[in-house]
Amino acid sequence: MDLNVFELAMFANLKKYTFNYRFVANALKVEGVKTLGWTPVAGSKLALELLAGTLKQEIDGCTVEPFMLLRLDSSGYQRCPFTQLMAAPSQDYLFVLLDTINNPDGHGIFAHNYLAFILSLDLPKDQLKRVPILMFKEFVIRGLERPLEWNRSMLWELDLKPMMDEKTLAGEAIDLNIKLMKWRLLPELDIPTISGTRCLLFGSGTLGCQLARCLIGWGIKKITFVDNGKVSYSNPVRQSLYTFEDSTLGGKNKAETAAAALKTIFPGLDSEGYTINVPMPGHFVTTEADISRTLESLERVERLVEEHDAVFLLMDSREARWLPTVLANKYQKICITVALGFDSYVIIRHGISPRSFVPEKHRERLGCYFCNDVLAPVNSMKDRTLDQQCTVTRPGLSFVSSGLACELLVALLHHPLREGCPANEKKEKLEESELGILPHHIRGTMSDFATNLYYGRAFDQCIACSEHVLGQYLSRREQFLLEVINNPKYIHEVTNLRELLEAADHQCIELEDDDVLFVS
Ligand SMILES: [Zn+2]
Repeated sequence: MDLNVFELAMFANLKKYTFNYRFVANALKVEGVKTLGWTPVAGSKLALELLAGTLKQEIDGCTVEPFMLLRLDSSGYQRCPFTQLMAAPSQDYLFVLLDTINNPDGHGIFAHNYLAFILSLDLPKDQLKRVPILMFKEFVIRGLERPLEWNRSMLWELDLKPMMDEKTLAGEAIDLNIKLMKWRLLPELDIPTISGTRCLLFGSGTLGCQLARCLIGWGIKKITFVDNGKVSYSNPVRQSLYTFEDSTLGGKNKAETAAAALKTIFPGLDSEGYTINVPMPGHFVTTEADISRTLESLERVERLVEEHDAVFLLMDSREARWLPTVLANKYQKICITVALGFDSYVIIRHGISPRSFVPEKHRERLGCYFCNDVLAPVNSMKDRTLDQQCTVTRPGLSFVSSGLACELLVALLHHPLREGCPANEKKEKLEESELGILPHHIRGTMSDFATNLYYGRAFDQCIACSEHVLGQYLSRREQFLLEVINNPKYIHEVTNLRELLEAADHQCIELEDDDVLFVS
């Protein structure tokens, strides 16, 4: 049988009367098989009398097959061809395998090759639920007039159904797709690290849906969504995890619906969704009930950040990104922001936490989404008309930018410093991983199809990622958060930005959109 080919390399040292040899054989890996039991054949009630006689004769005449199929009829088990198994499936079959290991415990490597063969027969699932295999392990001395005994042989009963389970098969096919990349193009691809990366997505709108789809394409297995919205009528056409049905009757919760949809695409995923109002600066909380709800949300958000490896900020407001930025810093997580304009996008990988930063190793600490901004985030949804509250963007932007953000994460996972990976102003001086360069800041515009790379150092007085903010958060978490929520300008005090802003106030002229400036 071609299944068990082997090669033997042998050297005969005729001076010393020794033979050295190396033996190489195929050993197919068959995982997920469930063993239902091992029983000694001697104690079983198998009708093997007929088989014993035939086997003895064949062993004596050296015509025995190492793997055979028997079918039970009125006189006992009779040999039959494998084709019969497919033509007339039933539970009356017994596979017999001449095992090279005489020891009753365990079996030789060829057993797995035969299992792979059985699976290749494309049998009905019922047939695979109980597969009895007689592991023939007897010492037989050819030509000796002694009946065959069943002292060592074992009956091995297996459930091969899990192997044919479509969820398992889908998982293997997905993994194979990624393995092909490794085998053909990128031998350095670290598949276990990618698939083991737990991703937390704040926002399950256009960006969250599209990004999740990219991440599962890379074989990422754990994706968690946080959102506080419901699926609205306009969502399904742009947000690839929702359907019209999800938007009816007031709309389903987005986070849970996105997670469930992801599992319909691949049931092997560990995906969950949480409807949480992420506490935000400027979104005032005054009543006792509000405060207690806010602190409860804080607790849940904080636990989620702690339990994941990479955090994506994909919300539609600036202030919603503030707390997750602080938390990603606290727990030293990879943090990537994606934001959209009408025809432009920006992707920023946040720098390392000020507490983990080592100048010799990380060079300059990279900025976060807030580093170029000196103004505390406020409630951007307040006093806005409906058209101002909705994100108005060209539909293709979310696909382009979430695709880039996903690829940036995977590239970053291949750099030894991960979230601490430095960056540079010059493209040719950027750090690289096996997947290419690792920019800090990617900006693109759809009107000219341009993508540009930028670099920004962390701002020591940053309203989100500076030591001032982290220190306050670590020392007086709840009071600090509540103060920031109810008085966003409090962050200016904490970061010593107030004086800077007051000084700047005297030098700046505020312009409205319709102001016309004449320069003579
Ligand atoms: Zn910052």
